[in-house]
Amino acid sequence: MADRLWLDVPYAEKGRAKALGARWDPSVKRWYAPRAGMAALAPWAPLPDIPDLLPGEDRTFGSGLFVDLVPSSCWFTNVRSCVDQRDWERLRRMITNRAGRRCEACGRGEDRDEQRWLEAHERWDYDQTARVQILKRLVCLCTDCHTATHMGLAQIQGKSSRATAHLCDVTGMTTSQARAHIDSAFSLWRTRSAIKWSLDLNILTKTGVTLAPPPEWHERSGLASQRLTEARARESDAPPSSASAMTPLSPPVPDPVMRQGTGGPTPKPRRSKWLSKVYDWLEDPRQPS
Ligand SMILES: [Zn+2]
Repeated sequence: MADRLWLDVPYAEKGRAKALGARWDPSVKRWYAPRAGMAALAPWAPLPDIPDLLPGEDRTFGSGLFVDLVPSSCWFTNVRSCVDQRDWERLRRMITNRAGRRCEACGRGEDRDEQRWLEAHERWDYDQTARVQILKRLVCLCTDCHTATHMGLAQIQGKSSRATAHLCDVTGMTTSQARAHIDSAFSLWRTRSAIKWSLDLNILTKTGVTLAPPPEWHERSGLASQRLTEARARESDAPPSSASAMTPLSPPVPDPVMRQGTGGPTPKPRRSKWLSKVYDWLEDPRQPS
């Protein structure tokens, strides 16, 4: 125990790390080397922790629970697509730890029996004049709050009633108020989806997080279309029990993908019929995420 060395193991590499002797500590949700001198685990030696407040981050921005739809022109290019997997693991750990391992919207922790997990969510500001999508804050949300946030996806998953009820429980909205709020969010989504946005990830650049250059604004919608085509091809080729088709997706499929960031033994993502519907739905410009 005294020689334990924490590791930064991306979810996709956990099987290999485990085979080489890494162990999982469920209490802190992190892999570790059980003793010093395990050279095979050196590739996952821990990187310095990311500070609890990102430079320029506004932790008051976008507080509470609300429907927060990502414009279709922004799909597939987000924080996770621009950072190294080990850096994503560092970010995810910081986000959940600084939140006290509680959802920042409803205050609840993880519950395996309830299939409720803690997930990272990006809060964006949209400068409509400059046409810039600006990362303002990273927030820790539970599965239920995250589902309500992505109400468009909740609808195609058949979860909108539960998501709306959760939205009402957490915010105190009446059902009619929630409906009006959702309609307003969808209207805003349609307006924003008509714009091609540049991406501003400046709050990450001074933390030692390595960023791949985000695509230019004029490339993003084309990239979204390309990634969608690739994902559909994988979906049709993959055997029914495979979870691999979920891996490359991030923005429109928040729950299972974000859970992959925990680096640990999380439940196998759901896929199949509803995922196929996601792909169909993503190509429909009338539908938000
Ligand atoms: Zn919550």
